[in-house]
Amino acid sequence: MSILPYANQNVWELVAYKPGKPIEETARELGMAPEDIVKLASNENSLGPSPRALEAMRQAVAGVHIYPDGASFALRSRLAADYGVSFEQTAVGNGSSELIELLGHAFLKPGTEVVAAEYSFAMYSIVAKLFGAAYVSVPNKPDWTHDLQGMLRAITPQTRLVFITNPTNPVGTMVGQAEVDAFMAAVPEHVTVVFDEAYMEFADEQVDTAKYVRDGRNVAVLRTFSKAYGLAGVRVGYAITSEEIAGLINKARSPFNVNLIAQVGALAALDDTEHLRRSVEMVNEGRAAYYAVFDAMGLEYIPCHTNFILVRVGDGAKVYAEALARGVITRPMGGYGLPEYIRITIGCAAENNKCLSVLREILALR
Ligand SMILES: *Cc1c(COP(=O)(O)O)cnc(C)c1O
Repeated sequence: MSILPYANQNVWELVAYKPGKPIEETARELGMAPEDIVKLASNENSLGPSPRALEAMRQAVAGVHIYPDGASFALRSRLAADYGVSFEQTAVGNGSSELIELLGHAFLKPGTEVVAAEYSFAMYSIVAKLFGAAYVSVPNKPDWTHDLQGMLRAITPQTRLVFITNPTNPVGTMVGQAEVDAFMAAVPEHVTVVFDEAYMEFADEQVDTAKYVRDGRNVAVLRTFSKAYGLAGVRVGYAITSEEIAGLINKARSPFNVNLIAQVGALAALDDTEHLRRSVEMVNEGRAAYYAVFDAMGLEYIPCHTNFILVRVGDGAKVYAEALARGVITRPMGGYGLPEYIRITIGCAAENNKCLSVLREILALR
């Protein structure tokens, strides 16, 4: 007898998040050495973790027989000081993905609504579905940015969470301070505005959203150590928010949601501003290289503020598969409603060159 009819229907019907294809799996399938595979699928940092974070994590490994500090005191105190908020206005998660889910725990149930932009991080709709909330997707503007005024119009008394991804994934565009300020001037107080800033370190314009937290607004600023900080594998992200919202997140989370290694690594990574600077510089150089080659090839792309770029290749699924067969993992975008595009993480020069030469080879075949 199938047990599924007795399961939580929201979970049973869920289409699970599909991550970038792992290097090991690709190597196994292609019969290639893992070292010969280039993964540009998940917006990781090709420079690797900060050496300071690595050293701190190495030292911490000897202590893993002890539970971590469930309150993540050192890391949250540091974040509170950096943002000028209280300790109680911070929360940390097993990646900022977990914080998105915890916001769902805190605010969503059947009858409530989530508002997000048309091309958004898949976790938002997954979390809405998980908690039985309606998911309202607002079309982007012709320049691929969030239509913040349209998102305002989509808000109803049932809306609990609005996700503004800035810069946004998977398209890479961003909204500036003036647009964000206009949105915040008009958004109703019963809505929690979530600024998901997973890629803000790569943006030219640093949009200040923490000021709204300091002003007592119902805002949650999410940041992650997975992208610019190069710590995707240890899983740690944080929220700067109101005491009430942080309180809800901290009630809903499991007691030791951020492990000891992650806490120590994240704290050390915050001190390594030089590594962060080099990471952003690598991406800026790589972005220019992609633009130049795409321009020369006559390929359409979306100018981006992120460590990934969306390029229009025709049959995205096919180009993805052909690049994969040549050892380059990109991200097909059919699942995001962009079947003519693939998303490419901007890596180090060698990876970018490999990816570009593979694309040249594939597209010249047509
Ligand atoms: C990568 C990403 C995250 C967070 O990733 P974690 O590894 O869970 O911290 C959050 N939002 C967006 C838009 C992302 O692209």
